[in-house]
Amino acid sequence: MVTTLDTRPRHPEKANRPDTPIQRKPDWIRVKAPTSAGYAETKAIVRAHGLATVCEEAGCPNIGECWTKKHATMMIMGDTCTRACAFCNVKTGLPGALDPAEPVNVAEAVAKLGLEHVVITSVDRDDLPDGGAQHFAQVIGAIRARTPATTIEILTPDFLRKPGALEVVVAARPDVFNHNLETVPGLYLKIRPGARYFHSLRLLQRVKELDPTLFTKSGIMVGLGEAREEVLQLMDDLRSADVDFLTIGQYLQPTRKHAEVKSFVTPDEFKSYERMASAKGFLLVAASPLTRSSYHAGEDFAKLRAARLQALGR
Ligand code: SF4
Repeated sequence: MVTTLDTRPRHPEKANRPDTPIQRKPDWIRVKAPTSAGYAETKAIVRAHGLATVCEEAGCPNIGECWTKKHATMMIMGDTCTRACAFCNVKTGLPGALDPAEPVNVAEAVAKLGLEHVVITSVDRDDLPDGGAQHFAQVIGAIRARTPATTIEILTPDFLRKPGALEVVVAARPDVFNHNLETVPGLYLKIRPGARYFHSLRLLQRVKELDPTLFTKSGIMVGLGEAREEVLQLMDDLRSADVDFLTIGQYLQPTRKHAEVKSFVTPDEFKSYERMASAKGFLLVAASPLTRSSYHAGEDFAKLRAARLQALGR
């Protein structure tokens, strides 16, 4: 049998960017290499179902901890993205056709992992007429059918120029609708060039308008060169869009061709962001160097529910 290796560059669009050396991480960002039995078991289930995870594709530093607890974030609609964000390690290119068996496969993996709460994300699929909205809805439906008690969190693309797509996803009734702003508006052209800040903000606001019972969530990375005032303004913007949950984590540079880390934000500065965001009225805030949008998502969902009930005086 002949094995053909895929030698295409992972980030062809970044090939001509200057090399930026990767800085040494400060002590507060060190993580252990994954070695646990739970990690190996999660990996085996993910492989057996031919699934892609953002944990691996994005090179997430929390993979040892999360997979030990069987918490893997599935990345649907392939492993190739139609956007080329300067911070992201997911492969860029023209993706293949959608896999019609994927919804059932994901649902089966969720059942095998025994997940009470699952996070489903995807690559951007600007090539599809609906941006993959119907496929998202099918995955939610398949999980509901297979493990009805599992709560479902989705982390979606922005469905830019895909009229009607958001409505399809919201109608499938995930428990948490997450869409990351990623960074402050002033850095969009450099960091998230294919997206539009106000479109993403409006998307989150629209989710709440369509179904006020859904929890909404958004996240940003810091350390990309943003000013503190810009982060505080972004918090106000998200509160205006009635977003419930904000996550803030440190940006880490995946390769020499990605955007450079401008600063390592200290744990104290993260605490300060957390205090400011809580004071602005978010139901929940997670801010720490290793916070990622899906980090501790199950525990945080329980906290979100409790916070809403408290806010309603129940
Ligand atoms: S934080 Fe999210 S992306 Fe990272 S390993 Fe955990 S589940 Fe995966």
